[in-house]
Amino acid sequence: MTTLTAPEETTSACFELSEEALDMREATREFADKRIYPNAEEWDAASAIPEEIIKELQELGYFSMLMPEKYGGLGLSMLAYAVVIEELSGGSAGLGITVSVNNSLVIEAINLFAGEDLRTRYLPKIAEGWIGAYCLSEAGAGTDITSIRCTAVKKGDSYVLNGAKLWVTNAGLADLFIVFAMTDPAAGRKGMSAFVVEAKFDGVSTGKPENKLGIRCSDTREVNLVDVKVPADNLMGAEGDGFKTAVGILNGGRIGVGAQAVGIGMASLEASIKYSKVREQFKRPISEFQGIQFKLAEMATRLEAARTLVYRAAATVDAGKTVHRIASMAKLFASRTANYIANEGVQIHGGYGYIKEYAVERYFRDARITEIYEGTSEAQLMVISRDLLKEQK
Ligand SMILES: Cc1cc2nc3c(=O)[nH]c(=O)nc-3n(C[C@H](O)[C@H](O)[C@H](O)COP(=O)(O)OP(=O)(O)OC[C@H]3O[C@@H](n4cnc5c(N)ncnc54)[C@H](O)[C@@H]3O)c2cc1C
Repeated sequence: MTTLTAPEETTSACFELSEEALDMREATREFADKRIYPNAEEWDAASAIPEEIIKELQELGYFSMLMPEKYGGLGLSMLAYAVVIEELSGGSAGLGITVSVNNSLVIEAINLFAGEDLRTRYLPKIAEGWIGAYCLSEAGAGTDITSIRCTAVKKGDSYVLNGAKLWVTNAGLADLFIVFAMTDPAAGRKGMSAFVVEAKFDGVSTGKPENKLGIRCSDTREVNLVDVKVPADNLMGAEGDGFKTAVGILNGGRIGVGAQAVGIGMASLEASIKYSKVREQFKRPISEFQGIQFKLAEMATRLEAARTLVYRAAATVDAGKTVHRIASMAKLFASRTANYIANEGVQIHGGYGYIKEYAVERYFRDARITEIYEGTSEAQLMVISRDLLKEQK
């Protein structure tokens, strides 16, 4: 008998879009149409998002979507959140990840893995405008997160942190960092701990912005920690909980990146349909050629499958069920789909697709990162296959 029938934890999670999700989708689409789509090219060229846009989104609550209302957030479901990230990322994938990191990796880390003291100290600050970043990766530690070298040594009422974190999204905007460090390097994953580190603590500094292929308007920098004294109370959970926190948080993060990928795919497809109707060759719009029609049909079908998987993973979180396999599947499939659609989008635009004047050039560049960060595609395959082999006795 097969054990590969639809697993209970996913089939019981219904993802009917709630009123809340539908309202948020409409409001976000409206915002994106007015404020993001017309400006995203400029932000990409400038490698920055204007401060007033960030402020506006903060005031509307987008930077605190996953924060419970009692701390000042919107308290959205994961499904409504995924819908919003998709819409924001359609306009600008760089903006999408800026918002997603603050919600999925920072607010969720504090809300789900820190105690009430840290929640009440930091979540309201984020609701009022603080921005957060997530510092896990290092020069020698990417997929293998257990090889981080950053250390935290207990001295009296503090921990002293030393190390360098690489490619930290939002680093240059951040008021606080979730930092992973080894409190017991000899204990491997059991020696990893997580801390809330304020950007203003002595010894914290950030490097210059990375010169990236895509998502250029998002801020990515190194974060350096030199003898940074962090109050012992800023330890999240207990010493040794860091690995569990890092892995647990990435489940939600993967839904955010999956939604970002769906947004990029959606925007690429919309641009391609529009272009195919106006571009004429052989005295007719190229949309009249079956070769182009089939490309659009394939892109739309894969987009819908990716969206369904991402929504299903989000609904699984909302249902309080085990999520790691479905979240990895959603991220794997949606990111591959975004790259497929963005590539076809450039093809449909021909030479114009290779020129910066058309947005598909940016979508093509932006799509690439979705297969890399918050776990590469290979890392997702590792999670899924490990789970399958464990299950099939
Ligand atoms: C723009 C950007 C933003 C980022 N933002 C953040 C952030 O905010 N916070 C943060 O902590 N990190 C961040 N990262 C880091 C990102 O999460 C890592 O780049 C990613 O996890 C991969 O690690 P790596 O680059 O070291 O690749 P590596 O782990 O060195 O992998 C190299 C290749 O080997 C493959 N590979 C590795 N191990 C295996 C294996 N066992 N089996 C098969 N294949 C394997 C990988 O899939 C990949 O193809 C960011 C990166 C970028 C580029």
